[in-house]
Amino acid sequence: MNNILIIGAGLCGSLLALRMAQRGFQVTLVEKRPDLRKVTQDAGRSINLALSDRGLRGLRLAGVEEEAKKLCIPMNGRMIHDKAGNTFLSPYSGRKDEYINSISRPGLNMLLLDEAEKMPNVNIIFNHACEEVDLENASATFRDFNSKKETTITADVIFGTDGAGSAVRKSMFESHKFLFSFSQQWLSHGYKELEIPAAENNGYRTYKNALHIWPRGEDMLIALPNLDGSFTVTLFLPYENSDYCFANLTTPEMVHEYFNKEFPDVVEMIPNLAEEFFGNPTGPLGTVKCSPWNSFGKVLLMGDAAHAIVPFYGQGMNASFEDVVVLDEILEKYVPSRPPQREGVDWDTIFREYETLRKKDTDAIADLAVDNFHEMKEHTAMEIFQRKRKLETAFEAEFPEEYYSKYSLVTFKESITYSEALKRGRAQDKAILNLLDDGKLTEEMSLKEKLELVKKETEAILHDDEVAFG
Ligand code: FAD
Repeated sequence: MNNILIIGAGLCGSLLALRMAQRGFQVTLVEKRPDLRKVTQDAGRSINLALSDRGLRGLRLAGVEEEAKKLCIPMNGRMIHDKAGNTFLSPYSGRKDEYINSISRPGLNMLLLDEAEKMPNVNIIFNHACEEVDLENASATFRDFNSKKETTITADVIFGTDGAGSAVRKSMFESHKFLFSFSQQWLSHGYKELEIPAAENNGYRTYKNALHIWPRGEDMLIALPNLDGSFTVTLFLPYENSDYCFANLTTPEMVHEYFNKEFPDVVEMIPNLAEEFFGNPTGPLGTVKCSPWNSFGKVLLMGDAAHAIVPFYGQGMNASFEDVVVLDEILEKYVPSRPPQREGVDWDTIFREYETLRKKDTDAIADLAVDNFHEMKEHTAMEIFQRKRKLETAFEAEFPEEYYSKYSLVTFKESITYSEALKRGRAQDKAILNLLDDGKLTEEMSLKEKLELVKKETEAILHDDEVAFG
């Protein structure tokens, strides 16, 4: 039987461990941190996440979708808050059954660890940080957090799911030198988490079923609901060189002045604003791209270790779960689950095929996530973008089979890849904005006529792109 070592028991690693065990492999899952089911978590580190269709598909594959859904709060749209405290709800889709979910990161991670641990062929080791990987021999060295001793684990193959700062990737970088491409691009903004506590009797202080956004141009606040009635709030703010930036907000008075000016309706909902602002860490936001993900057919990077992205499409975890689905489909081709036949697996071919299929899509979602950073902080407050959203929502409600906005293509249409969603979604956006700008979508036209015009313009843009880029 093939022995598989998975390094990093976060969201991707724990789902992968469960799925590989279900396929009959012998799995060892090693995590740097203590078992999160036994210790309290660090405050201020992305406590809840938006889970959507691509992520749900991964959970479904491993038979844990229904359990995960018990942890979910549906969010039907974006609730936009202006400076005067006015709000409006912009639905994510015109189709009633399409929404995203707020889910607790530790809750989901615990569920996946529980399910993986139930498998007789999974061994989970906590408090062991990977320091180095011998890529050719599929052997990794770990430091025990408690005893400080070193141990080495050798397997047939290793999966590096140790997140954005991956030690496995570092070993590839050092071993392959110029044959390993790596880029890390930071935004000039960082993020900080705050909390709107629950109201009495676990009530919600603002509308529960939405992702709340306070878009302010260069800075932005968002809030996602938790099951206990609280909201996890995330402030995205430039580090420096702006009237309001992390470098300038150095006293409680300054923080209050800033929030009173920019987000007055939030101040009363966060009783410990300054305390949390200074107590919680400021996190960086970056995109990691690298290749190859495969080393000697012995080691493969997956999840954030292979493709960390900025969080503005709410797709990092979803993409990481989709990684597991894509790998599983390839495994099904080469190592069918029935009859069990797991000796002599050609991992090199599997890993190469996986990367060829997957890389263009994770590159696409990385670029889309940066696009959405601008859309969320600036465009959601602009009139032309609001008109575009309204039109797209009407298209989706009236012609649900014919029209998917870029957001819907990425978030709800898991049957198409991220790279296809990027191509079509960008062309549609350009088409609608051009037509609105030129006044070509007139009041007199029926919705159907408007849709036909948008489709025609989209096809023309796609055609021009094809001619230009081949
Ligand atoms: P991680 O979840 O980072 O897990 C990596 C694991 O490896 C961790 O448990 C870590 O302790 C362990 N590890 C690290 N180094 C070592 C080592 N040397 N040895 C052993 N173990 C190690 N995604 C969404 O889909 N929706 C969202 O709404 C969303 N919001 C986000 C908001 C913020 C502010 C941020 C920063 C990210 C957000 N994401 C979101 C992205 C999401 O968090 C990641 O894409 C996802 O966690 C990736 O899973 P992973 O398992 O690859 O990495």
